[in-house]
Formats: sequence, C-alpha cells, structure tokens
Amino acid sequence: MSGQTKRRAIIIGGSMGGLFAALYLKKQGWAVDIYERSAVPLVARGAGIVTHPELRQALADIGRSAEGDLGIPFDWRVVIDAAGEVTAKLLCPQISTSWNRLFEILNEVMPQEHYHLGKDFVGFEQDADGITASFADGTSVRGDILVGADGFRSRVRAFLFPEAKSVYAGYVGWRGLAEEARFPEALRREIIDTFVFHLPPGEQIIGYPAAGPDNDLRPGHRSWNIVWYRPTDEAALDRFLTDDTGHKHRVSIPPPLIAKSVIAEMRADAERLPRQFREALRLIDQPFFQPIYDFEAPSMAVGRACLIGDAAFIVRPHVGAGVVKAAEDAGALARCVGQAADVVSGLKSFEAERLPVGRSFVAHVRRLGSYIRRSFDSEEQRAEAMIRAVPETVMAETALLDFMTAKQSAPEARA
Ligand SMILES: Cc1cc2nc3c(=O)[nH]c(=O)nc-3n(C[C@H](O)[C@H](O)[C@H](O)COP(=O)(O)OP(=O)(O)OC[C@H]3O[C@@H](n4cnc5c(N)ncnc54)[C@H](O)[C@@H]3O)c2cc1C
Repeated sequence: MSGQTKRRAIIIGGSMGGLFAALYLKKQGWAVDIYERSAVPLVARGAGIVTHPELRQALADIGRSAEGDLGIPFDWRVVIDAAGEVTAKLLCPQISTSWNRLFEILNEVMPQEHYHLGKDFVGFEQDADGITASFADGTSVRGDILVGADGFRSRVRAFLFPEAKSVYAGYVGWRGLAEEARFPEALRREIIDTFVFHLPPGEQIIGYPAAGPDNDLRPGHRSWNIVWYRPTDEAALDRFLTDDTGHKHRVSIPPPLIAKSVIAEMRADAERLPRQFREALRLIDQPFFQPIYDFEAPSMAVGRACLIGDAAFIVRPHVGAGVVKAAEDAGALARCVGQAADVVSGLKSFEAERLPVGRSFVAHVRRLGSYIRRSFDSEEQRAEAMIRAVPETVMAETALLDFMTAKQSAPEARA
C-alpha cells in the first residue's frame, strides 16, 4: 500500500462483475466505489442461472456463503423427443438460481454508500500517479485503478479498443420464466424439478428450475426457465430488433418493446414443440430473445485500466458461465493487484492469468453452439458440428464447466 492511504478502485458497472470486483478488492483492504449507469436499482433480468461449485466458492471468498439459500437443487437431466417421450437421462445434481437472487445476495454485502446509481461513465485519463473517470453528469473521480465491469457493450472497452467488435453468432435464444404456480399439476410434477432438453434439427431448447417471483425458492413458488436457441439470419435479426414504432434497436431490444408480430411468429412455431415446452411457453407472458454474440478483447489491462466479465469476453450461454467468469476475473484481479507494490504490474499479472481462460471459454462455447444453424459451408464443417448435437453429449456439456477442469489438469496446462 502507498503510505497510510488505502488504494482506491473505480468500478464501472454495478452488475455481477462489478459487485464481485468491489467485494474481492474490499477484502484486500482497498477503498472501492461502484458507478452504475442505471438510475434505479438493477432488477428483473428475467434469467435463470445454473450455478457451479466455482460460483459457490467465489461467494464464500467474499464472505457470503450461500449454502442453503442460493437456489433450487435438482438432480436429473433428460432429453425428450418430438412426442415428449424421454429418450436419454443423466444424473447430474446442480443448484439453479436466478439473476435476481444472485444480485440480491451480492448486494446485501456491498456497502450501499459506495454503490452510486445514475453514473454514466463517459471517459477516463490516466497518468503515472492515478486514473480519473468522468461521468455524463459532469462529475469525475480519481483512483488507482479503473475496472471496466460495464458488460457486453462496455464503454471502457470502447475507449481502450475502439476497433474491437462483437460478432453475431447467427442465432438467438428465446427466453422466459414460467411461474410454477401457473403450471397444470400434471406438468408441474413431470418437469419442474428437471433439466429438460429437446433437440430439433439445428436448434436446441432447454428448461430448468429457477427462483420464482421475488426470488422465492419454495416449492409451488418457483419458476421454470426456458431458453430456445434458433438460427436467425441477419435480415431476420434486423426485423426482430425493430419495435412496433419502426425504430431499429442496436444489438438487443428491451423485452416490452419486441414487436407483437415477432412474438406471434415465435409462438406459432412453438406449437410444433413437444407438449411440455409448448405448454410451459404458453405460461410466459413476456418472452424475450437474446441475440448470441462472440467477443474477445485483445487485452484485459492497459496501464491502470482493466476489463472483467462480459466487457472482456462474451461467452455464449451454453455453459452458463457468464457469472462464474466475472467472479473469477474479479478474484484474480484482487489477488494480483491487492498487495502489489506496483498496480500496473499487478494488472499485467491479472491479464496473464485471465486472458487465456477467457479465450478458452469463448472457443469452447463456440464449438458447443456450432450445430445451431440451418446449413453448413462444407460436409466437414457439418460432421464436426454434429458431434455436439448428440443428445448424450449435449446433456453432458451444457451448463457444466468440466472442460475447464480438464484443461487445468492437462499436462500442457501444468507445465
Ligand atoms: C438474458 C441473459 C441471460 C443470461 N443467463 C445467464 C446464465 O444463465 N448464467 C450465467 O452465468 N450468465 C448468464 N448471463 C450472463 C450474465 O448475466 C453476465 O455474464 C454477468 O452478469 C456478468 O456480467 P457483467 O457484470 O460483466 O456485465 P453485465 O451484467 O452486463 O453488467 C454491466 C453493467 O454495467 C452497466 N453499465 C454499462 N455501461 C455503463 C456506463 N457507461 N457507465 C456505468 N455503468 C454502465 C450496466 O447498466 C450493467 O449494470 C445472461 C445474460 C443475459 C443478458
């Protein structure tokens, strides 16, 4: 530490990555402040999140062990065919939660006087002694490091790497949470505690339990989270992103603004799904879609500025790793700069540790999603992609991080 004064981190973005960064750095004795663009507290992202042991470890690291109240435990994964019959099963105990529940858990331990809403970051300047961030309201703050935890459209990243662009993967994920309380009893008993997969040609639809409204984990009050990956070419995506007033949104569209005709089209297609998904989708009043993108930042640290979470790498959702990756980026950041004599070197060490991890995540999920398309450029490409479409393989690879464990224990990774 320099003198007696605490080092100060300016964290841009108050979602998962920003909160984990603040809480990990605080444990290292740093002064931390989060600056979040939204003027109102973040809520209701409408997403169910399958958790991994690594996430529970990260929560324990920041002093918020969430054993018992993190989410809903479930054991089985099944694949169903077009007639709704189970064709494959896998015992795979996991805990599912929701974005809202996780946010609530992290926010409970974040000192609210250091979480600043309505702060739209617009730029920064750095010199040998520190870094200054500026906001749209004309204010500025000075600190030792700037952490860009501002998500997949990161402005911090745009300053560091103006040329770097995300690449549309050619498909979208239609999503939504069906409330357990609205399920017909027979369907509720059949699927609510199960991770269900259905694999139409070139598509994938999954459903799994998630926390219910107000983060309720009690049986009878939970939700079932559906994600339906469908190839959607650029022209169709343009149409999907155009609201009923004719305005075309960039990259993504707020759920209430999705054109009625686009939702009607999805609902009509959903009538061809197996009855379990057909019925559950009908219970979702406001389905929304997430266009799937790939992005890799060329670097994660430039001087005193760094990127974590989705700002650094956008990982397709197939392994459900966005939150874990953000948490582990934050943990590595705090470990590398925490007590470092020189924070710039600390940030370089952080980058050396996390850049290869981010790259492997992106490459792995790209392979997992490679068969979600209508046509292939070559027979070789098709054959390679179809390996990932085998039902047992899809069940064994989705929402699991085993590929990272395998990588870490591989001989070249140990070298
Ligand atoms: C629909 C959906 C479903 C998902 N499902 C899963 C899942 O099942 N499992 C999983 O692990 N992950 C999932 N993710 C991804 C996961 O939410 C992110 O990976 C995770 O939140 C980490 O992201 P982050 O904190 O880096 O960025 P984000 O969560 O995107 O947060 C970025 C924050 O920065 C703020 N911000 C942006 N610009 C500025 C600015 N100029 N100034 C100040 N603040 C700014 C934003 O308002 C936002 O709050 C999902 C994402 C979406 C969109």
